[in-house]
Amino acid sequence: LIVCRNVHKQYGAQKVLCGIDLTVKRGEVVVLLGPSGSGKSTFLRTINHLDTIDWGEITVAGQHIGYQRIPGGQLKPTGGLAQARAAARISMVFQHFNLFNHMTALENVIEAPIRVFKMDPVEARQLGLRLLDEVGLQNHVNHLPHRLSGGQQQRVAIARALAISPRVMLFDEPTSALDPELVGEVLAVMRKLADAGMTMVVVTHEIRFAREVADRVVFMDGGLVVEAGTPAEVLDNPQHERTRRFLRIME
Ligand code: ATP
Ligand code: MG
Repeated sequence: LIVCRNVHKQYGAQKVLCGIDLTVKRGEVVVLLGPSGSGKSTFLRTINHLDTIDWGEITVAGQHIGYQRIPGGQLKPTGGLAQARAAARISMVFQHFNLFNHMTALENVIEAPIRVFKMDPVEARQLGLRLLDEVGLQNHVNHLPHRLSGGQQQRVAIARALAISPRVMLFDEPTSALDPELVGEVLAVMRKLADAGMTMVVVTHEIRFAREVADRVVFMDGGLVVEAGTPAEVLDNPQHERTRRFLRIME
């Protein structure tokens, strides 16, 4: 469903992604691990068209969304990142929730369907209520974010991400900003999504989640995929010293 080939990205003189190859199949749950600064967030942002890439290619369902081929064979961003993002139908959940603070939970969830996808407001409202119910927030639909706990806010963010019927959900450390007692409720929602067959790429330091939910674990360092495999392969029997060192610190 997503194919990334030889993806390069630099900020100024700093190389952040140095030739990433990754394929995500439909229904697959991929957990991305790696030390701080290894390029995990940048990589997710390029998949979600929040950032362009300098070299290589990313296709979603076989299409180069947001890029066109120029003479010589190279791909060039077409500019409209927001349009590309809508067309790719990929959703992202961030560490700091990124909710609209002046909107209720329900308004947050139905904003994109109405504004970007021109959904009928009545229909959008029904969808929003159903999604908030699915993440266990049926009693909080009219609350503003500041009246919700971090775990509840993140569940609103997940409902909002689901509202565009995404083909893929990207999660960037969704539980890192939460108090420990609230982590479980968010992971439970993510696990439910995974069980329902959602295609997911998850950056997380929750090794247990990786072990139990991931189909594949990918370890990144220095803007490269160092190793990838099943959770048992990468977590229990890592082949590379860098992976072993990282896991020793984590566990
Ligand atoms: P963390 O675990 O800390 O979230 P990460 O693996 O997500 O790290 P990135 O956030 O992708 O790493 O950052 C990789 C490198 O790119 C870092 O050195 C960072 O300083 C740099 N970087 C990221 N975004 C930008 C930006 N918008 N402008 C300049 N440099 C950036
Ligand atoms: Mg990051």
